[in-house]
Amino acid sequence: MDKIIIVGAGLSGATLARLFADNGKDVTVVDKRSTIGGNAYDFVDKNGITVQPYGPHIFHTKEKEVFDFLSKFTEWNAYEHRVLANIKGKLVPVPFNLTSLYACYPKAKAERINKILTDEIGLGKQVTILQLKQHRNAEIREFAHFVYSNIFYKYTRKQWKMKPEDLGSAVMNRVPVYVSREDRYFTDDYQFMPKNGFTEMITNILRHPHIRLKLNTDAGSILSFKDGKIYFEGNEFKGIVVYTGRVEEIFDYKFGALPYRTLKFKFKTLNRPSFQKAAVVNYTTSHRFTRITEFTKFTCGAKDKTVIVKEYSRKCKKSDMPYYPVPTDANYALYNKYKEEAEKYKNLYLLGRLANYKYINMDVAVLNAMKTFDKITEEFVFEEE
Ligand code: FAD
Ligand code: UDP
Repeated sequence: MDKIIIVGAGLSGATLARLFADNGKDVTVVDKRSTIGGNAYDFVDKNGITVQPYGPHIFHTKEKEVFDFLSKFTEWNAYEHRVLANIKGKLVPVPFNLTSLYACYPKAKAERINKILTDEIGLGKQVTILQLKQHRNAEIREFAHFVYSNIFYKYTRKQWKMKPEDLGSAVMNRVPVYVSREDRYFTDDYQFMPKNGFTEMITNILRHPHIRLKLNTDAGSILSFKDGKIYFEGNEFKGIVVYTGRVEEIFDYKFGALPYRTLKFKFKTLNRPSFQKAAVVNYTTSHRFTRITEFTKFTCGAKDKTVIVKEYSRKCKKSDMPYYPVPTDANYALYNKYKEEAEKYKNLYLLGRLANYKYINMDVAVLNAMKTFDKITEEFVFEEE
């Protein structure tokens, strides 16, 4: 057996495996799914349309190091993501910006709010809805109430069953309010879609003579963890295990399950070239689903068919796919109990969205894998054969 076992062939596990392999180390990567790429997996359907079965994934990053790394494994299509919010039937750009302001208010009122926002916050600035709601200026607070009610409140209730205030800034900062005409969903320097999809990119990351990939293999069927020691097929394993699955699985859920939100996706293929005005439309005041994504809008080239998906969020049961960690102090305290357990194992490293219980984007998954590689290389001494 290789001295490095990585559980999970998502972007975190694949990146780390590649870094070890490029360094001359043999790595085994196991995944319980029959596919690689974790939630970033995509495929081309029978109509030639690239579909993302685990929800819309758009690559964006500020980190040149991440972009340079991934660029070794894919060519890119330039793509800047723009989203519309459906507010009671009216489509306005989100993040809410000055264009959205003029679309929602009569001209004179919009001009008044524009001036106050520019004077009080500054042209070109961005601010979170929670900050805006606390602003000292009463007219700004009134405007904030409008944006809060029409963009954030219902969507957040649907997605999290929580109020924006209770979710905290880490999540709400993802979608700020812009005092400018900026209407892109992301402002990062690098915004691209992999030319032939995420699956091909991640396949290329994993394609290396030092990497052995075992799909359809649940870690629980080969690894066990007891009293600070890891066992592989019953024998003590002195190499490294990097775990990117749910941390609770390693310890038989002994402190209970960490709460997640899961999603139900309803896909539809339509016999028309286009369904909606943007790749993603958020339903911020109505309907049970949160958003509709139209995959053909991510790629170039017109087609006579299109594919859409509606997302419904709900509490994650044990048999569901865990998608979003729920960011509350109580949940982080529970996570820390598992983390302390994991720290008793000197050759176990936790990595990725599930094992770190963090709501991270793909670029952060890559960046964290790079940091973990440095950490392991610095501190772990591999036993001689
Ligand atoms: P995952 O992708 O979850 O991979 C973990 C892998 O481990 C899975 O393949 C799983 O099968 C495997 N595994 C788990 N347990 C076991 C086990 N016991 N045995 C064997 N294998 C196991 N990021 C962006 O940058 N842009 C976006 O637009 C974006 N959109 C998103 C939309 C949705 C709906 C969701 C849920 C996430 C989105 N993300 C987005 C985040 C992105 O999916 C993650 O950052 C990224 O997938 C993290 O990769 P990972 O490898 O840590 O985890
Ligand atoms: N959000 C909202 N209205 C919107 C867009 C986002 O209330 O129109 C809130 C909601 O709580 C959501 C969070 O901001 O979960 C983060 O949004 P993002 O689009 O980044 O979510 P993701 O794509 O990760 O699901």
